[in-house]
Amino acid sequence: MKRCEVDKDKLSPMMLQYLDIKEKYEDTLVFFRLGDFYELFFEDAIIASRELELTLTGKQAGLDEKVPMCGVPYHAYATYVNTLVDKGYKVSICEQLEDAKEKKGMVNRDVVQVITKGTRLDDLLDSKENNYICNLYYNNYCYGIGLCDVSTGDISLFLLEDDKNKIIKEIIKYNIKEVIVNNETDREIVEILRSKYNILVTISSDILENDYSYIYEDIEDIRLINVIKHLLNYIVLSKKGDLTHLKKANVIKLTNYLEFDNNTIKNLELIETIRKNDRKYSLFWYLDKCKTAMGSRYLKKQITMPLRDKKILNQRYDIITKLSCEFILRDDLIKLLDDVYDLERLSSRIVYGNLNAKDLIQLKKSFKALPDINNILEKIEYPKTIKTFTDLYKLLDKAIVDDPPFSLHEGNLIKKGYNSTLDELIDIKSNSKDYILEIEKKEKERTNIKNLKVRFNKVFGYYIEISKGQIKEIKEEYGYIRKQTLTNCERFITNELKEKENIILTSEEKIIKLEYKLFMDVREVIKRQIKDIQEVATILSEVDMLQAFSIVSDNRKLVRPNLVDDNNLRLISSRHPVIDEIMKDKYVDNDIIMDNSCNILLITGPNMAGKSTYMRQCAIIVIMAQIGCFVPCKEADIPIFDKIFTRIGASDDLVSGESTFMVEMKEANEALKEATENSLILFDELGRGTATYDGMSLAQAILEYIHDNIKAKCLFSTHYHELTILEKNLLHLKNVYSSIKEENGNLIFLHKVKNGYISKSYGIQVARLAHLPDEVIKRSKDILEVYEKKSTKKEVFTQTSLFSEDFLENNKNEIEEEIKKINPLEMTPMEALKFLYELKQKIKEK
Ligand code: ADP
Ligand code: MG
Repeated sequence: MKRCEVDKDKLSPMMLQYLDIKEKYEDTLVFFRLGDFYELFFEDAIIASRELELTLTGKQAGLDEKVPMCGVPYHAYATYVNTLVDKGYKVSICEQLEDAKEKKGMVNRDVVQVITKGTRLDDLLDSKENNYICNLYYNNYCYGIGLCDVSTGDISLFLLEDDKNKIIKEIIKYNIKEVIVNNETDREIVEILRSKYNILVTISSDILENDYSYIYEDIEDIRLINVIKHLLNYIVLSKKGDLTHLKKANVIKLTNYLEFDNNTIKNLELIETIRKNDRKYSLFWYLDKCKTAMGSRYLKKQITMPLRDKKILNQRYDIITKLSCEFILRDDLIKLLDDVYDLERLSSRIVYGNLNAKDLIQLKKSFKALPDINNILEKIEYPKTIKTFTDLYKLLDKAIVDDPPFSLHEGNLIKKGYNSTLDELIDIKSNSKDYILEIEKKEKERTNIKNLKVRFNKVFGYYIEISKGQIKEIKEEYGYIRKQTLTNCERFITNELKEKENIILTSEEKIIKLEYKLFMDVREVIKRQIKDIQEVATILSEVDMLQAFSIVSDNRKLVRPNLVDDNNLRLISSRHPVIDEIMKDKYVDNDIIMDNSCNILLITGPNMAGKSTYMRQCAIIVIMAQIGCFVPCKEADIPIFDKIFTRIGASDDLVSGESTFMVEMKEANEALKEATENSLILFDELGRGTATYDGMSLAQAILEYIHDNIKAKCLFSTHYHELTILEKNLLHLKNVYSSIKEENGNLIFLHKVKNGYISKSYGIQVARLAHLPDEVIKRSKDILEVYEKKSTKKEVFTQTSLFSEDFLENNKNEIEEEIKKINPLEMTPMEALKFLYELKQKIKEK
């Protein structure tokens, strides 16, 4: 039966109420609260029963046929909702807004929140991960991107130029699951996000006026304000409740950060490994010795967005040094942080209202640690102090019992001594219970029935139970009223018993209500300080991360990098942090030196010799330095980098149907277009996806271009040994090779990188290590011999490159160069106008 076909005149009032609500939330599955269950009806029921493997039943709703229905128990709904959300559905939670006991007739119901991939229920979120909802808002010739983690209240904003590729890259970098776009957004972007990256995209241009304006009160740029209003509109619509835990929006200037894309995050295994998509053995895993979930999330954010600010980085190094010297203080700090719970998510729950008493106990324990943490921060000269909330601690300690139940509607939340009315009620209740025991004793004596019992059940309340054999002992004057006869006993009540029962039950009800109210009052008091609590959370996140850095630095013997201004990179005895950790002391360290005399390292060496590792190591060390961490070297001089580009490994982009070679060339193109002399480029065997001569020529041309034009630092590994001759021609290119030893025809990888080059590939020897059949190995050796005899050596074309100074000079267009230099996203309208005027002036002069 379809919803659109039903005859509304015949429908029961409840089903009409359902239809009303469902029509407002057409694109969601509506979980409709009926007593202890959430029920789904019609098409929703059919979808949910299939996706959740629930039994499809029917409900009588006044029609000839039953309405399809399925349901889940209310207390277990979260996992069901999450499964549906994972599968890409949106779910509306429709609650009873009135107490069914107190209301005569049908209770009022409405949707209290809509749950989507970006606005999940926070109790099932990965605590080490931010869960962002993102919006994309095209206005005034550029795109704005907003990111909000509703569970922590974090909001970030930035502007991007109208460039499809960049926009998509930026969105997938943050592991976004859901995006809201406005109508003006390029539909091609929408399509790619949906089909290629499986992101839930909602198209809507609605914006939220007025409400929550504190979030953007410090922002002047109207483009950014529009972005945030657009994002807020969707969040407010789906979360509905109080959202004042949302923090002021943080406007991100991308040029303040070390920029790289999602491919680099993957290639360098910063967050997870390539093979297993597992956190284990990633840089994040290596560094994450954080004690709190907030610290881990903060660390992860830092890894994907390292800084360019030398001052902050040096401050972080200072703290690490302090912590490592004062290791007793550090131990204390670690113990204290262990007691600090997820203050960010707790704050959100307190404001939003979905908290329980256990959350308040977590908060109390966290508060307890704060004064001592503050002392330590002072001692290690941490630049900030934290509020310690002793007032809130005292309140919580006085008000909330130490081990409260999850439910707020069963009582047992509030400590004795906190509220006198409550204490009185509890007193009456327990006295009456004692009194009932007394009644039992008294009745036993009076009737002389030894096994007389006073019991309780939900149907009769308190009653007296007497076994069959004893019934005759009961006399009229006792005033026993018979309630029930069972096979071996009878049950009675007396007026006295009922009186006491009444006191017990009403006091119990009053207790539960009062305890709930007192609980909510406490919550209200805490809510008033939520902004301060969030600020403490942010500071502790950083402290926790630095504590982790200090531990890793000690354990793995990392050193403080020296951030230099002269653009000379010197990594002495450097190691790949993760492989070094896995191999312990067996890892072979290497120098990586790219100073004024050398921008490009051309790396040769057989497969398995360690070329890729060497390159990755360099980039990872730069990233570690720029998140404020020590680095796995004996000595490290590191200039601040602006961008990192990587092309490592061959991965066909099957989804978009692009071949390895195409992907490779696109990535190379991006690096060539975007890199500056302060960037780091890793090209791992670039050009191998095509025929030898093509590949080699491209590789050479690209090397020349980087050398002459970009002057970025570049690590370039290759099997085209012929390219090593470029060292003669390109002043700033240097050959290095990953050394090996041959012993009785066996290859031994030394992993030591040396100056110079190897002109042999050892492909067949490596294949032998992989245990290819002997016949194949032998035959290939024979073939190789023939080739080697036949071939005249391939000559590398070393004529002056196309990109000679003259060529570049002649082709330079001054105006074009000027325009390239500016960034409209960072200009005020006045500045833009002035710039335009100056350009015009220049053209005139010509
Ligand atoms: P290539 O890129 O030259 O084929 P890789 O960089 O992939 O080689 O290295 C192959 C393996 O060699 C790595 O997985 C690692 O286990 C080991 N390895 C690489 N560099 C070192 C090193 N410096 N010390 C010890 N082992 C290394
Ligand atoms: Mg390799």
